[in-house]
Amino acid sequence: MTLTEKQLMEQILEKIKQWDNIIIHRHVSPDPDAIGSQVGLGELIKASFPEKTVKYAGEGSESLNFLHTYEPITISDYEDALVIVTDTANIARIDGEYYNEGADLIKIDHHPKDDSYGSIEWIRTSASSVSEMITDFWQTFKDELTLNNEGARLLYAGIVGDTGRFQYNNTTPQTMRIAADLLSFDFDHTVVLRKLYEMPPAVARLQGYTLEHTKVSPEGVGHLILSQEFLHSLGLEDEHTNAVVSTPGPISGVKCWGIFVEQPDGTYRCRLRSHGPIINTIAKEHNGGGHPLASGANAENLEEVQEILNKFRKVAVEWDQA
Ligand code: AMP
Repeated sequence: MTLTEKQLMEQILEKIKQWDNIIIHRHVSPDPDAIGSQVGLGELIKASFPEKTVKYAGEGSESLNFLHTYEPITISDYEDALVIVTDTANIARIDGEYYNEGADLIKIDHHPKDDSYGSIEWIRTSASSVSEMITDFWQTFKDELTLNNEGARLLYAGIVGDTGRFQYNNTTPQTMRIAADLLSFDFDHTVVLRKLYEMPPAVARLQGYTLEHTKVSPEGVGHLILSQEFLHSLGLEDEHTNAVVSTPGPISGVKCWGIFVEQPDGTYRCRLRSHGPIINTIAKEHNGGGHPLASGANAENLEEVQEILNKFRKVAVEWDQA
């Protein structure tokens, strides 16, 4: 029997009520929606059920410390604990090795379903972000749940992050209504926005480099390769490339693009984006996945990067003709 979304949400609320200890995970290399949905849900649970203990698993990210800083967590924390994983389609991308050591496991996600995990899987691919889903969860059970200012701040940051400040096509009227409701809480949204898009001088230099060196093919495929050597010359690491993933987007003629970041083992993390051509099918063929217009993959070497770019050219041409 297929359950309705409302029934899934009711089941999740029941599980939350049932367990006193709750541990929330999200994906590795966290972005604002990963942390916003994880800790936003935690704040919602803590404000609604103050007697419960909520812990957060995963490695923090320096640039997102203003959202949350993480405490270490041990396997003993998982005894009699409910585990919830937000914003993570694949098991391999769950941050925190003990995610399967709890008494029960729930998945809450807005990515197309890759791996199935958990006794309840609430997936809404039409949601801009999992932060939007968590806010909807609160509103659906408003009689029983309380959201505090900190939860609202985190959820707002998650929505802003995943919609690129409400510019991507995942921004719906519902996204705007939910964001408006979050704005009515007491937090300074200008500070959230400023911190989300603040960059250290080295990242500003990377921005300039990205604009200058992104190559655009006649079919409208942009690409940039960032070597370890170059990143290190700026004092930067892989995680900082997050700040430039969207940078090639506004260059005239660009339809889809990839930023290929060399890893210490010589492979390439492929950060893939599109204005229209569907790219997650290509990402899946290269050890990755994600959303139709925002995906990630892994390439063994530069030859595989070229293969991805060839496929990008094909979908860019097909999209032209569509
Ligand atoms: P990123 O470039 O890391 O911001 O990733 C964009 C989207 O692609 C994310 O929302 C992830 O869901 C997805 N993604 C990134 N890397 C992978 C991967 N290796 N496997 C599956 N999905 C990925």
